[in-house]
Amino acid sequence: MIRTFGAVTLATLWLAACSPAADDASAPAGGQGGELNLYTSRHYDADLALYEAFTAETGIKVNRIEGNPDQLIARMQAEGPGSPADVFLAADAGALWRAQNAGLFQPVTSPTLDAAIPANLRQPDGQWYGFSRRARVVAYDPAKVQPAEIDTYEELASPRFRGKLCVRSSDNVYNLSLMGALIEAWGEAKAKGWAEGVAANLARPPEGGDRDQIRAVNAGVCEIALTNSYYYIRMASGDDAADKAVTDKVKLAFPSLEGQGAHVNVSGGGVAANAPNRDNAVRFLEFLASPKAQDMVARMNNEFPANPAVPAPAPVDAYADFQAHPMSVAAFGPHQAAAQSMMSAAGWR
Ligand code: FE
Repeated sequence: MIRTFGAVTLATLWLAACSPAADDASAPAGGQGGELNLYTSRHYDADLALYEAFTAETGIKVNRIEGNPDQLIARMQAEGPGSPADVFLAADAGALWRAQNAGLFQPVTSPTLDAAIPANLRQPDGQWYGFSRRARVVAYDPAKVQPAEIDTYEELASPRFRGKLCVRSSDNVYNLSLMGALIEAWGEAKAKGWAEGVAANLARPPEGGDRDQIRAVNAGVCEIALTNSYYYIRMASGDDAADKAVTDKVKLAFPSLEGQGAHVNVSGGGVAANAPNRDNAVRFLEFLASPKAQDMVARMNNEFPANPAVPAPAPVDAYADFQAHPMSVAAFGPHQAAAQSMMSAAGWR
């Protein structure tokens, strides 16, 4: 598709080069350069180094527009066909699905992307691609909980953990995607019962982010907590002595869904429907899938590489040897509305 529309893309780039916005983009010699308008809802400081590496490699200047996913989606909708957005990035497949559902992506055909990113980690039509993996798993107090008690997602809802579970609010997209995956695997009736069990097990009304749940396990507020893997790994391997002390005590377990492994979500992105710099956008996605970028994201943000050819670097290598559920990350989004309503109905705020 990139080649088919080559002439159109060149014309678009030429127009973009003549626009006032591009006047200050100093393209280096060598026929490279131009710019890329990146709408990103990833909230990780480490991403700046990633964008700098892309600019160093390609000469393409990255203009960043940051916000939460719903803000950026609303902005792109308001901008309409004249939107300067080239790429939309989000830290969850559910947020990517929302943008897709709003018609904000265009499909991309790239042999490079298809070779680097496994089929279950990208949207089947090429509308968006996952670039890093994160498991939604369980932090637990090993003095109170046996690993065998939390090796399935069902057990989080069991009476064994009445009043002993910490988890953030149900409108958080990480929880919505997990719930969507459970609906996909189990059907709505069983998933609804699970949400009710989780709500009954809450040690306190949901508050804070994933790291706050891990800290609450350490503080004795709860015995188990749901968290994304990279938050735990960052606490365990970062510079913060207090967080390090927490993870010296609190352990991480990877529950299995239907015996097929832990729920895995992605951070990812796609090319905006009206991208003025379409070629640069595809090049940026291909860069994110490259071994260099994959290694950087894993090292700096402690996510797992999406590209199976890239070995997990330290410190995530110590956690990378888990069984990942093979479910397509594109399966979560269509269940989002059902997920939210059954969590709310269960009293999981
Ligand atoms: Fe996050």
